[in-house]
Amino acid sequence: MLVLKFGGTSLGNAKRIRKVAEIVSTHSNCVVVCSAMAGVTNALEQVNQAWEQSDYQQATEILDLTESSFEVVIHELFLDQDIITENCLGIRKMFSEVQHIVAESYNEELKGNVLSLGELATSWIFNNYMQYSGKESSFVNALNLIHLNEQDEPVTSSIAQRIHETESFSLPGIYITQGFICMDWQGRVSNLKRGGSDYTATLLGAALHASLIEIWTDIDGLHNNDPRYVENTTPIRELSFAEAAELAYFGAKILHPSCVWPAREHNIPIQLKNTMNPDALGTHIHSGMIPQGVKAIAAKDHIAVLRITSGRMFNAYGFLHKLFQVFEEFKIPVDVVTTSEVSVSVTIDDSHAFEGLVSRLRSLGRVSVENNRSIICIVGNIQEHLADVMHAVKHFKTDMVSLGASSNNITLVVPHKQKVEALQSLHKLVNNNIVNRQESCIQLQA
Ligand code: ADP
Ligand code: ASP
Ligand code: MG
Repeated sequence: MLVLKFGGTSLGNAKRIRKVAEIVSTHSNCVVVCSAMAGVTNALEQVNQAWEQSDYQQATEILDLTESSFEVVIHELFLDQDIITENCLGIRKMFSEVQHIVAESYNEELKGNVLSLGELATSWIFNNYMQYSGKESSFVNALNLIHLNEQDEPVTSSIAQRIHETESFSLPGIYITQGFICMDWQGRVSNLKRGGSDYTATLLGAALHASLIEIWTDIDGLHNNDPRYVENTTPIRELSFAEAAELAYFGAKILHPSCVWPAREHNIPIQLKNTMNPDALGTHIHSGMIPQGVKAIAAKDHIAVLRITSGRMFNAYGFLHKLFQVFEEFKIPVDVVTTSEVSVSVTIDDSHAFEGLVSRLRSLGRVSVENNRSIICIVGNIQEHLADVMHAVKHFKTDMVSLGASSNNITLVVPHKQKVEALQSLHKLVNNNIVNRQESCIQLQA
């Protein structure tokens, strides 16, 4: 069994949906995980914002516009008028259910239903198109399969069981389902957070013991730096699970931050492919890679640095335990940690409300907070290149430096306004690495 995930741009218009159908049709036993058409989840987030502010007119207008974008695709995709009408009616039904929800006063518990519309509508149209093109595909509702626990983490052990109970994917065939959407522990429609369709793909891949998980997107693999900010980035042919996990977690947008671990746990390779250029090799992520040189750089924004300084740390044990208990109490994950004799610095996502956190930390020592920071993560066989890394960032105000425990990454924290410049300056290291590898290939051939 193969799992193929297609992102929003890949399913963004009728021409691309046809292309995806072509790619899927080369397989006879696969699960296809569909994201929402590009732009739709953003629009649905705006619907929720307008609804929360009781701006029913704005919420309805955005929903109407989103529905029209699906109708445009339906008109371009199908040639038969009856089929067009049938598809438009199906979409009308889905949208009118959500219109009814947002016509009532704001209910936090139903915002997941609004956000789920994008993936449900896109996958439904794609399944209809597959059948229209003569393929025997089946529609599977991901809400029946992926459930969250109280900590909002997917319950991996129950996915295989639910697949079994619902008899989903039981016979060889083409199954079309949704990324991103799931149920929470109280039975409400929820999701795996933005970009979560990648995570759905690896969770399903793990539960199904898939032979390969293909993530099809709008670029030819994971690049050695963020192509949105740095010129001349190039795709990396191979990455280890550990390297890919670090890069995804620390901001390489091409992969959801948590999506590598289910595949890694079950040793299922992930292939990143470009829907717009299927012949490009893409990136192969697997277990057998030995890190070589500086491989790639990624950055994560909206970071706050907390520094806790306390004389009680000096010559004492148990301080770090007490400190991390506070983060556990507030359910706030810590990304990077550095310590000295009398102080500890940690980074957290600045979206967390940390008034309560800071006042609790004050019982342990003096606390300072620096906002608007970015984490830069450099991945590869870093040890030999520490001096080069430090040289490349010598002009920047670096708040924290941490060599990862597995020595395959180094994380730096810099002010957000210096992020792009720092990424560009560090890019020389990956470029040098490419040059070095080309030289060693030439030497080998000679
Ligand atoms: P999809 O909608 O297919 O899930 P995403 O927008 O989530 O696609 O991810 C693909 C985008 O990630 C690319 O278009 C690119 O701009 C961005 N990106 C950021 N960092 C990287 C990287 N290191 N390598 C490749 N793409 C990256
Ligand atoms: N549609 C969701 C988003 O835009 C999930 C995804 O595309 O992976 O975040
Ligand atoms: Mg994505």
